[in-house]
Amino acid sequence: MVLFGPPGSGKGTQAKLLTEMLGLPHVSTGDMLREHIAAGDALGMEVREIIKAGQLVPDYLVIRLVEDRLDRADCEAGVLLDGFPRTLDQARMLVGMAEGRGLRVLVIHLKVDYDVITARLTGRRLCPQCGTLYNIRLKPPIVAGRCDIEGARLIVREDDKESVIRQRLVGYDAQTMPVLEYFFARVRFFEVDGSDRKPEHLAKEIVTWIRSAIDADTDEISGEGL
Ligand SMILES: [Zn+2]
Repeated sequence: MVLFGPPGSGKGTQAKLLTEMLGLPHVSTGDMLREHIAAGDALGMEVREIIKAGQLVPDYLVIRLVEDRLDRADCEAGVLLDGFPRTLDQARMLVGMAEGRGLRVLVIHLKVDYDVITARLTGRRLCPQCGTLYNIRLKPPIVAGRCDIEGARLIVREDDKESVIRQRLVGYDAQTMPVLEYFFARVRFFEVDGSDRKPEHLAKEIVTWIRSAIDADTDEISGEGL
């Protein structure tokens, strides 16, 4: 399963809920890269040099990482991929990898209205002293503009400014749309609107879809021999 969603869509929360409900491993390529870098192994050192040079981690490295991970025993019943595939080439490789292992690819696209995302993220406030995060709409401090803990003046992080958020969303669209279109034409694809939903309700709806998609595939496979 591959989960797509723009920054600020609550994709991380969904990934956590879905893997808990389905009992499957959550494979995040970002986490795996960080683990290799922290471990200082050969792959980690290679990745660190690439990032230090300001370059993107190339497809062949990401694919090697995912392939190794998919071959571990805990992935036999399926896996939730997060942060992969990011490019059309990676998407093609994933379909090949899955076919070679007798796995099906299910794609879930978490859609959230960009005005909702912008409102969520521009509401974030950070305490520069203790690092506590607030949200003026969802988790406001007791005294407006001040940290509950030591009363420091809260700030808006550079990343949470509206122009930066809009730019990231435009970047997400440009990068992800071709990948989504590729999948839409080839694999089972579920698009769900998460703009105004409780995360638990959303996760339940997605799990229901996943189960029905798996059942449909099973029917198809058992029907082939008849
Ligand atoms: Zn504070």
